[in-house]
Amino acid sequence: GVSCRHLSLSYGPVQVLKDIDLDIQPGEFFALLGPSGSGKSTLLRAIAGFNRHQGGQLLIDGRDVGGVPPHQRNVGMVFQNYALWPHMTVWDNVAFGLVERKVSRAEIKRRVQEVLEMVGLAQYAKRRPSMLSGGQQQRVALARTVVVEPQVLLLDEPLSNLDKNLRVQMREELKSLQRRLGITTIFVTHDQEEAMTTADRMAVLDKGVLQQVGTATTLFDFPANTFVAGFVGTAN
Ligand code: ATP
Ligand code: MG
Repeated sequence: GVSCRHLSLSYGPVQVLKDIDLDIQPGEFFALLGPSGSGKSTLLRAIAGFNRHQGGQLLIDGRDVGGVPPHQRNVGMVFQNYALWPHMTVWDNVAFGLVERKVSRAEIKRRVQEVLEMVGLAQYAKRRPSMLSGGQQQRVALARTVVVEPQVLLLDEPLSNLDKNLRVQMREELKSLQRRLGITTIFVTHDQEEAMTTADRMAVLDKGVLQQVGTATTLFDFPANTFVAGFVGTAN
């Protein structure tokens, strides 16, 4: 699991995360909601180790990871802008992390094929990212991250560029993969319906302050304040 204890983070003089207390259980599928600029990406980047927090503690499976570099955290992150390597094919982009980890060639072939099928891009394996649509690139980024089977998966709006049907299909497949592998997952989304239908629990963040944590039912039926009520109750 992932635990934040009194976590705070500032960019220069501006405090962006304020005293965050959060416990995400091992294997949980957790959604992070909040308006633009509320600190969602910053929180994911702090968990991944790309942003250093100044106050409080961050634990991954019980280990305090303050000062631990990103590549030693066993965390996979799909970024909001899903940067792919432009000079590599789709296949090589997805295989990269496995090659780096010295996985056998047969195993690489099997796993890359499996995730490319999961995201529906097996027929694009030989293309370069520049020859794909935005939604296809986003799916390559997702495939590249899940193929290494991290302990913790951080997804920053990984389905935002997909049309409604594909979005629903992809989130079902993502969830079934997540369940099968038991990966603790934190999923940022602007889509309340997506959070409500997919997540075990969710949190609402506003201006760097965690407003409420709970199941969809709890937030919907017993919002902690008018902000949560407005945010969970309206489509945006
Ligand atoms: P969105 O839904 O638009 O992606 P978000 O909730 O992910 O928003 P963050 O990207 O975490 O928001 O940003 C939180 C706040 O921190 C914003 O006010 C933003 O302007 C500021 N911020 C983000 N990155 C930096 C940075 N590198 N330097 C300074 N300020 C930053
Ligand atoms: Mg963001």
